[in-house]
Amino acid sequence: MTAAAGRPAVAKPFDLARIRAEFPILAEPVRGGRLAYLDNGATTQKPEAVLRAMDFYYRHQNANVHRATHDLAERATLAYEGARDRIARYLGAAREEIVFTRGTTEAINLVAYSYLLPRLRQGDEILLTGMEHHSNIVPWQLIAAQAGAKVVAAPLNDAGELDVAAWRALINARTRLAAVVHVSNTLGTLNPVGTLIGHAHAHGIPVLVDGAQAIAHLAVDVKALDVDFYACSAHKAYGPTGFGTLYAKREHLEAMRPWHGGGDMIRTVSFEGSTWNDVPYKFEAGTPDMAGAIGFAAALDYIEAQGLPAIAAHEHALLEEGTARLAEVPGLRLIGTAAQKGGILSFVMDCAHPQDIGTVLDQAGVAVRTGHHCTMPLMQRFGIPATVRASLGMYNGSDDLRQLAQALHKVRSLFR
Ligand code: PMP
Repeated sequence: MTAAAGRPAVAKPFDLARIRAEFPILAEPVRGGRLAYLDNGATTQKPEAVLRAMDFYYRHQNANVHRATHDLAERATLAYEGARDRIARYLGAAREEIVFTRGTTEAINLVAYSYLLPRLRQGDEILLTGMEHHSNIVPWQLIAAQAGAKVVAAPLNDAGELDVAAWRALINARTRLAAVVHVSNTLGTLNPVGTLIGHAHAHGIPVLVDGAQAIAHLAVDVKALDVDFYACSAHKAYGPTGFGTLYAKREHLEAMRPWHGGGDMIRTVSFEGSTWNDVPYKFEAGTPDMAGAIGFAAALDYIEAQGLPAIAAHEHALLEEGTARLAEVPGLRLIGTAAQKGGILSFVMDCAHPQDIGTVLDQAGVAVRTGHHCTMPLMQRFGIPATVRASLGMYNGSDDLRQLAQALHKVRSLFR
């Protein structure tokens, strides 16, 4: 069901009406009216192509992978490993460098426990930024506590941009790894990850990039970036929930010890000891999520069929339009005004708490997220408890932004 590995996807002309019609849930009435789905930062909706690929797998290919010799097992293995080729091609990686995980969170934990913890000594430092998601903070804190190391976070300016000079100044002889979000889920800030990787590598420091909010919106080439570890989730890129990928340079994977033990990750097992399978299988214990991999591959096919440049241009135009519309709402303050930004509009209003704003928006059929967005240190930095966040996907249009703006004017009249 996925494009054959190696065959470049041919982009169709970007046609918003056609794209929308391919996402069945967008026609779902909510609160008795039209849905304006602006919660793509939390999770994206799924196109027919992804639903069909997963359905096809269970109807025609389902069996456990890698072990059995029967026809269905062969089909399942081909489809599952074909998905690995597809994902590798999307990220510009070799297939051996693609480890399947449950998502970004598990990918980061894998690097923390399998790569960094064995190398971490008392007094060592892990360099983060002030805009990281909890999943790119807490795993590092957990291993730092075990090793007597510490987590250090570089500051942001008032626009929500990383202070790159301060980040550089925090690099020292004790820094063991730098971890940075590619696109901030709360601010939309696009970080200059290529520059950061260059600086870190000049000091021999490996870099992990959290790509959860990036891969559906901009082209990522892990080789061009020379990134050591890149983590992402399928569900934020029009694929299924509970599935994701860790890209890691092969030399790192070879040097890393296994994390989860079980079937498929071993070569031999005896009571005297076990030996490990080749990478990436060394990190994939147990029966994997075959349908998840196939759904993710279908989602990447879908993105490429629309064309990432066209998607990025569309979302950028919407970001500009949305920014202008929000500027017309009295008492509204945008949080995150970076010069380089993805399609995220986070804001607070002087008349109402984000929770109350979210409730009024919901009544108007506008789906947004309210809260700290798993970035509590960032909320502290801006001195606010929460924001309202509208986050864009390829199927959003001016009508969604109009619906949002109208509902915000209603908030204003209700809470004034
Ligand atoms: N990092 C960022 C920037 C995110 O937005 C998210 C999801 N909100 C995550 C990490 C975690 O992703 P997942 O829950 O799919 O593991």
